[in-house]
Amino acid sequence: METDKRELLRGLPAVDAVLREPVAGSLAERHGRAAVAAAVRETLGRLRGEILTGDGPQVTGEGVAVAAARLLEGRGLRRVVNATGVVLHTNLGRSVLSERAVKAVTAAATHYTNLEYDLLSGSRGSRYAHSAPLLREITGAEDALVVNNCAAATLLALSAVVGGAAGDGGEPEVIVSRGQLIEIGGGFRIPEVLELSGARLREVGTTNRTRLADYERAVNENTRAILWVHPSNFETVGFTESVGVADLAPLGLPVVADVGSGALLPLSDEPRVGGAVRDGASLVIFSGDKLLGGPQAGISVGAARWVEAMRRHPLARAVRADKLCLAALEETLRSYLEGTAPDELPTLKMLHAPAEEIEERARRLAAEIGDAVPDLAVDVVPSVARSGGGTLPTYEIPSRAVRLGGDAGWLADRLREAGPPVVGRVSEGGLWLDARTLLPGDEAAVVAAVAGAYGG
Ligand SMILES: *Cc1c(COP(=O)(O)O)cnc(C)c1O
Repeated sequence: METDKRELLRGLPAVDAVLREPVAGSLAERHGRAAVAAAVRETLGRLRGEILTGDGPQVTGEGVAVAAARLLEGRGLRRVVNATGVVLHTNLGRSVLSERAVKAVTAAATHYTNLEYDLLSGSRGSRYAHSAPLLREITGAEDALVVNNCAAATLLALSAVVGGAAGDGGEPEVIVSRGQLIEIGGGFRIPEVLELSGARLREVGTTNRTRLADYERAVNENTRAILWVHPSNFETVGFTESVGVADLAPLGLPVVADVGSGALLPLSDEPRVGGAVRDGASLVIFSGDKLLGGPQAGISVGAARWVEAMRRHPLARAVRADKLCLAALEETLRSYLEGTAPDELPTLKMLHAPAEEIEERARRLAAEIGDAVPDLAVDVVPSVARSGGGTLPTYEIPSRAVRLGGDAGWLADRLREAGPPVVGRVSEGGLWLDARTLLPGDEAAVVAAVAGAYGG
């Protein structure tokens, strides 16, 4: 080994020495000494690796303590300020729950519940019995089932339909349009899910045009279902043609409609759950934490026969929803039933807040940042917010952003290190903090983060 590398390695501080640094001391008060020691050891290990591969820096005990602090603070699930303007930001956890949903979650988390207990008979009940009546009422479907997420619901629905429909023993087939063989994100691809369900994929039509006759020609004695998927995260424009659920239902096969976002109320051209039910889909599947504005969940509503087939399928146990999810979902659905959803659900409030309200919030925030850091260039600029989460890809929501001048990349890094971290968007002329996705309490956190970045 070269002598300078050996020098650098020898120069690395000992764990105990780093732990005596004041930074490490205050860190230990928050995270505990054991966690800080582990972070210091991890940081030293990384530095040793960097020295050995050739570009390790000379570090002090304080330097290691600061690096360990960053490591520790950036870890663990924690609150983040979403200043991206993307309402259903999948990486930032999609929907924020309503106050009443949070109360329901807290009650379910801190007490015993009748999760699987029938209070009328005093015997075993079903976790699915709580939200099903609400979903029936809201969507007009015969029955409903809630599982862990929409991807799980799609897999379960297809598995149940493929396994449960009559066939002559040949390889079961599911028909799907080539225009709907999509990837949702995180590696969730419709053709692969279909394969996993045990069905052979029967593709019909073309990427841009599929007609009813294409489906009709593909039906044979092995066909178990038609899968209709809402291509949520992209749009085809121009020379296009597709077939809706209403035209597929009369073919007499179960139609499984994965509508994705779970819009219960009108929003742009997003397909609505109730519409797909009325159009005759056997099963309509959607997410709980997208446009519905509830917890992560996969909801299936539809014909009693097929919902029951899903409930009985062995996979149902593997993808079941937990009590906290069910508590949050039930309370979120009550907001819809009572007609208060637009006023109570943060997701809907953010999507629908009038531009003037956002403008006012942005101006107030800009003024507060200007007061806190007088030398910083701050202005309010028109921006475009988006629904995100793979919904409404071309839907633009007029918004306002606070634009901060200076070195935007550097500032973005500092704001992500703040407590709570603030995530904005580096764009033309600076760091953009979109005011549409800020929640109550976020403004003060943003001001503190910017002031902190400039040593205030
Ligand atoms: C988002 C989406 C999914 C996946 O939903 P998760 O709840 O994230 O599992 C599945 N299908 C469609 C059409 C979607 O838009």
